[in-house]
Amino acid sequence: MPQLSPRITTLNGDGDDGWGVFYRARTMIAAGTPVTELTIGEHDIGTDTSILAEIHRSAAAGHTGYAMVPGVRALRDTVAARIAERTGVPTTYENILITPGGQAALFAAHMAVLSPGDAGLFIEPYYAVYPGTVRAASGQPLPVPTNAEDAFLPTYDQISAATRSAPRARSLLINTPNNPTGTIYPRETLDGIARACRAHDLWLISDEVYDTQVWEGEHLSPRALPGMEDRTLVIGSMSKSHAMTGSRIGWICAPAEVIPPLIDLATNTTYGVPGYIQDAALFALTAGPELETSVAEPFRRRRALALSILEGQDIVRVIPSRGAMYLMLDIRATGLDGQDFANRLLDAHRIAVMPGESFGTSGAGHLRVALTVADDRLAAALDTLTTFAANLARETA
Ligand code: PMP
Repeated sequence: MPQLSPRITTLNGDGDDGWGVFYRARTMIAAGTPVTELTIGEHDIGTDTSILAEIHRSAAAGHTGYAMVPGVRALRDTVAARIAERTGVPTTYENILITPGGQAALFAAHMAVLSPGDAGLFIEPYYAVYPGTVRAASGQPLPVPTNAEDAFLPTYDQISAATRSAPRARSLLINTPNNPTGTIYPRETLDGIARACRAHDLWLISDEVYDTQVWEGEHLSPRALPGMEDRTLVIGSMSKSHAMTGSRIGWICAPAEVIPPLIDLATNTTYGVPGYIQDAALFALTAGPELETSVAEPFRRRRALALSILEGQDIVRVIPSRGAMYLMLDIRATGLDGQDFANRLLDAHRIAVMPGESFGTSGAGHLRVALTVADDRLAAALDTLTTFAANLARETA
């Protein structure tokens, strides 16, 4: 067989891609061992039946052929209006490309701004696929480390230091509300990010796929900050807001000049999103706020439940979480790293969580817990996890 391109064989970097515990849990489940999975960001409800009915109606009406590659006009208009209303930044369909999910949008955004060998920065701890996405666009991934003690909020100085370490830094990817930490960047943090992007002439790629999961405070889009509209690409998705993960639909909101080349990229890669999925997204976005509130509600409730359980002990520390469907737990008091703790918890109690190391070295000694199982199972799992941590801390003391 001729050689494969290193572009594809090195996508995941060196060693474990951070999913070892997840795959081990899936193997146990396949062998018949029940496991409480608090690993991936997948809702425990399916897509609402009204959205499914619209998929069916649209497909039966014949929308099964090639759809417009940039997205159907009505959907682009609706996404633009939604963004304009939420951010106050004038936005039209000419700023919007519909993509097969946020992930395709992240890839397209990096393809748009990175030349081969340019450094693509992102904040650590990071959503596990970010380094691979930068590599897929022939860029050099460059994590910007942050501190647990600052709730992993990045500062101007941290971004500047990382930028100076790379002669060809071109873009910075941020994510608020954040996966894995559950933090929401306050205005001061976003101001520091914006200042760093302007000072070092970086594109800002703002992953806002969790913008409907805000439990405290408010979500601010950095595209709305002074001087940022022309250098910001916003990533959106229906996956988290409407439990449409499998429908693969999202978008990029960008300066109007950036959209035509992105359409060229889509023409040569995805060739657009199925028309019946676009119709269903249009239906969901215009159905009123109840749909998305009902999708977010279980996570709001479970976060409160989880915090009340964690309050009753002082071994496991919670990173101040304000949004998204995750909690980041500091388990350094047990003397174990996240990987070791997660593997032992899986073996001893059949509870699967993500080791913080999966999200970069800043996440070492932490765990990410997804709030994606029924309340009673979540409560039982957290009770077990905290007791397990307390026992470990006692043993190592
Ligand atoms: N960004 C973040 C931070 C995510 O957590 C995810 C999904 N887990 C995505 C983007 C991509 O989501 P999708 O492709 O389903 O829109």
